[in-house]
Amino acid sequence: MRFYNSLTRSKEDFEPLEPGHVRMYTCGPTVYNFAHIGNFRAYTFEDVLRRVVSANGCRVTQVMNLTDVDDKTIRGAAAAGVPLKAFTAPFVAAFFEDLKTLNVQAAEVYPAATDHVPEMLELVRRLFDRGLAYRSEDGSVYFSVAKLAEYGKLAHLDRAGLRAGARVAQDEYEKEGYGDFALWKAWDAADGDVVWESPWGRGRPGWHLECSAMAMKYLGETFDLHTGGIDNLFPHHENEIAQAEGATGKPFVKVWLHCAHLRVNGEKMSKSLGNFYTLRDLVAKGWSGREIRYVLINGHYRQPLNFTFDALDAARASLARVDGCVDALTACAGGAAPEAAPAWAEAARRDFAEALGDDLNVPEGLAALFALVREANGALARGELAPGAAAGVLRVFDELDAVLGVVRFGRTAAEGALPPEVAALAEARAAARAARDWAGADRLRGELAALGWEARDTKEGQKVRKL
Ligand code: AMP
Ligand code: ZN
Repeated sequence: MRFYNSLTRSKEDFEPLEPGHVRMYTCGPTVYNFAHIGNFRAYTFEDVLRRVVSANGCRVTQVMNLTDVDDKTIRGAAAAGVPLKAFTAPFVAAFFEDLKTLNVQAAEVYPAATDHVPEMLELVRRLFDRGLAYRSEDGSVYFSVAKLAEYGKLAHLDRAGLRAGARVAQDEYEKEGYGDFALWKAWDAADGDVVWESPWGRGRPGWHLECSAMAMKYLGETFDLHTGGIDNLFPHHENEIAQAEGATGKPFVKVWLHCAHLRVNGEKMSKSLGNFYTLRDLVAKGWSGREIRYVLINGHYRQPLNFTFDALDAARASLARVDGCVDALTACAGGAAPEAAPAWAEAARRDFAEALGDDLNVPEGLAALFALVREANGALARGELAPGAAAGVLRVFDELDAVLGVVRFGRTAAEGALPPEVAALAEARAAARAARDWAGADRLRGELAALGWEARDTKEGQKVRKL
């Protein structure tokens, strides 16, 4: 495997620190709202990374934190007039449902920041011991960036611009305005009852501190991979490095990977710009998690991806092509035991593995998938495939799908075997729903029922089964 490391700004061969075991940390959601599909671009990219590592024979320990205390969650809870936990809990639950909708494999640990304040305070203590932390007049604790010679190495900051003693209190800020950042924020009235005791006074942790403390607790002081969207690189990840390496004197992370943004009309999709779709918005419009996953992974993760409804239409058509081929192969295999797949299937398997192992080149991987579809359709049309060989080709599909997660996902055996007139009605009904033509969708449901089939609308999209 080779990955582009944001730290060295180059593609590097990757070997886990512990042979056969990859430890990775992925910055999780700030649970003050439903995650938007921009966020899910990051989580699906991380899911592909995790699946590639597994496909290469390594065990994965992945930690994804839940940021359930920070500037944004506190503001949200105050605006809603409810305690912090009551405010964040529904968004945590929604997040896990959304991950399932998108067929994202579960991480091994999902630590919540509010459950790890003692670990964070211990980290602050270590930073005091090393002379890297200080208490300001208001009782907050800051990290002294001037005292850590390597501060800025991830974001390539211009240290000449460092203003000694300048401080930033908020969690998010621009590179130009960098200075000492808050590790521990002294209580103020806006925090209400969100407060913990500390040796430095009552307050709450800064966002950056949360991730360093939780990452080291579950993955050790040095681990393999750390990921996030590109907006996390500065200040969040820079500060995570400073806190961890400042405290331990050891390298924190071997390889940093960042995905580029999902955009809408050329702008970053974000809650603050208001130009976002949640996953739920799209599901309500009739798109399945499978189709949305396909759109989100269909681009190189380091290139910005422009979100459009045309891309969803194209995903639907591409998946229908894959489905048609898989169904025809299934029919041809007729339950036979898999035998050696033809050379073109082996070539697709090899091309796919090479593409994904080379810094997660999903577009090239999908090209290998569609080469497989093309060859299989041709061989089937010419009657060249024996049942065992067809089963062997299906096994290659499954191998590719172990990484892509879109071929088998969201399809039931029954759907694979829909009679053509039922399939046509089901497709028309899904299209009617996508166009918000509810009357048309109801009429088509009636027509399906008349043929003895039931259409149900689920999170993964429409499901059709025999009554
Ligand atoms: P947040 O909930 O804001 O902390 O973000 C959660 C994750 O989503 C982080 O890894 C962000 O970098 C990532 N993210 C936020 N907006 C986008 C976007 N438009 N495209 C891709 N990733 C994003
Ligand atoms: Zn983080």
